[in-house]
Amino acid sequence: MRIENPQLLAALPELGVEHCRDEQLAGWTSLAVGGTTDVLVIHQLQHLPDLVALLGREGAPWRFVGGGTNLLVGDGELPWLALHLASKNARLEFAGNQVRVPAAADLGRTVMECAKRNLGGMEGLIGVPGSVGGALRMNAGAYGIEIGQFVRRLDLFRAATRTIETVPASEAGFRYRHTAFAPSDVMVAVELELPAKPYEEILATIKMCNEKRRASQPLNEKSAGCIFKNPPGASAGKMIDELALKGHRVGGAIVSERHANFFVNRFQATADDLLRLIDYVKERIRQAFGYELEEEVIIWKN
Ligand SMILES: Cc1cc2nc3c(=O)[nH]c(=O)nc-3n(C[C@H](O)[C@H](O)[C@H](O)COP(=O)(O)OP(=O)(O)OC[C@H]3O[C@@H](n4cnc5c(N)ncnc54)[C@H](O)[C@@H]3O)c2cc1C
Repeated sequence: MRIENPQLLAALPELGVEHCRDEQLAGWTSLAVGGTTDVLVIHQLQHLPDLVALLGREGAPWRFVGGGTNLLVGDGELPWLALHLASKNARLEFAGNQVRVPAAADLGRTVMECAKRNLGGMEGLIGVPGSVGGALRMNAGAYGIEIGQFVRRLDLFRAATRTIETVPASEAGFRYRHTAFAPSDVMVAVELELPAKPYEEILATIKMCNEKRRASQPLNEKSAGCIFKNPPGASAGKMIDELALKGHRVGGAIVSERHANFFVNRFQATADDLLRLIDYVKERIRQAFGYELEEEVIIWKN
């Protein structure tokens, strides 16, 4: 989708919005697939309500893209704009065991900054790429922990009411890779509370998690991490592996030989290739186990 209205175009710089025309979203996602649209990069959060009001008046739909590491975006011309928070000035503010983190901050950098102040707990999240906002939306987790367990409160922009609200963690509905937010809610910042731990101890756990990841995941290939959520008490990866589907290929998309729940874009895959591979694997699992796998990756079909 392209912004053509001259008045809207003129208003964007006043709202601190950088207008990136005709972007291939393949360049904004770790799977390296996704069609074309205008991307609006928000540099001044205080203008987010005005921006969303303007887009509403224009009848221009939008979706929010963080680090793009859990997204499967459709091919071709996209019928919506992409909004993105600029991360350049994402500064963490510490007060005792608590830290306020802008949603645009990189998750891995956040874990390390906290570690340097002897604040631990989030070591398992070190290899989860993307932004803090995306991690909150997904309730990202690894190696037995999830970000939601450290959240005290969140600031979020509610597009429905065009207000920025502070909500306690109890209202976020954090569950396994799930939160209760509306699709149009935008995370703005979060207050985390973390247990005190010596830096060296945190580093040792981080090192262990990094080694486990390197040994089991195709980190040098284009992916979105796990494609499916694990069924209760089971592993989606193990189920796919049991059906000998590692290496199964549709177009340029392949079930990773290293981790069966990672689908990688090895040969210039399109979104359609990945979607067909997902459907194929789901059907095989349905036939073999009678179980309906649920996608963890967020799919925005065109
Ligand atoms: C190699 C690799 C390993 C991974 N390992 C893990 C893992 O161990 N555990 C795990 O949980 N995930 C993992 N992932 C998936 C992914 O990194 C996480 O889900 C991550 O938290 C997504 O953050 P993001 O900023 O990239 O979000 P995006 O992919 O940009 O967006 C994901 C969703 O969050 C929404 N969103 C993003 N930012 C905001 C915001 N500020 N406000 C509101 N909504 C927002 C988007 O609209 C979208 O619905 C992995 C991915 C890769 C590529």
